[in-house]
Amino acid sequence: HHIVEVKNLRHVYSDGTVALKDASFRITHGESVGIIGANGAGKSTLLLHLNGYLEPTSGNIRIGDIPLSKGTLPDIRRTVGMVFQDPDDQLFMPTVFDDVAFGPFNLGMAVADVEQRVTEVLELVGANHLRDKPPYNLSGGEKKRVAIATVLSMSPDILVMDEPTNGLDPFARRQLMALIRDFKHTRIFTSHDLDMVLELCERVIVLHEGEVWADGPTLEIFNNE
Ligand code: ADP
Ligand code: ADP
Repeated sequence: HHIVEVKNLRHVYSDGTVALKDASFRITHGESVGIIGANGAGKSTLLLHLNGYLEPTSGNIRIGDIPLSKGTLPDIRRTVGMVFQDPDDQLFMPTVFDDVAFGPFNLGMAVADVEQRVTEVLELVGANHLRDKPPYNLSGGEKKRVAIATVLSMSPDILVMDEPTNGLDPFARRQLMALIRDFKHTRIFTSHDLDMVLELCERVIVLHEGEVWADGPTLEIFNNE
């Protein structure tokens, strides 16, 4: 049974740009999938559909047993954790702690449980020493780790990341790669970092001008490019 099904997804932006023409694929629980392709191929647009940040022009998305629609958005967002390319898009509270606690509080979790969860995920991403700092003062790599913590604090079944290693120094990149490798559930991310894709993804989807150009085992795809 597939945890993600994207069927004939088409997205036309309001200015007429056809970002996705007709994309289809399915992802199995636990898979680690890299989405690659040139600038403008439609990668970010595709990710934004996976938890309903964009509405399809046509086509369908199913996450687990839930078809994505307005009515199912809260369920979908609990299942799909999205890390944006720019951490400033998801850090907006006065302190790191507040940002990471925001999701669990929203789920109605008790205060003591929230505090425990926040400490756990901040330790996991190596950012617990930053918990009382305002996120806007952090370095790019630190912000990225906190952004990931805000998503992990919701215990998502699917981790979706847009260019996760973008702008990170080599050490932060290695740390992040270890984190992604250790995440036990489904991982889907876009990247221009082909070494990372090779190391972390058993499968690659190549987008080209809004279409799935190739989809298969990473080594096979890389050897044919
Ligand atoms: P990628 O992530 O592969 O670089 P994107 O999904 O960001 O590709 O963009 C796909 C296409 O859609 C590009 O031609 C881009 O210019 C266009 N696009 C992206 N966002 C918008 C938007 N908000 N309005 C209009 N066109 C957009
Ligand atoms: P239908 O009943 O026509 O099959 P859906 O159940 O798929 O429609 O969606 C119900 C409503 O939610 C529709 O108006 C649809 O346009 C809208 N919708 C679907 N996907 C999204 C989304 N990702 N974000 C916001 N609205 C959406």
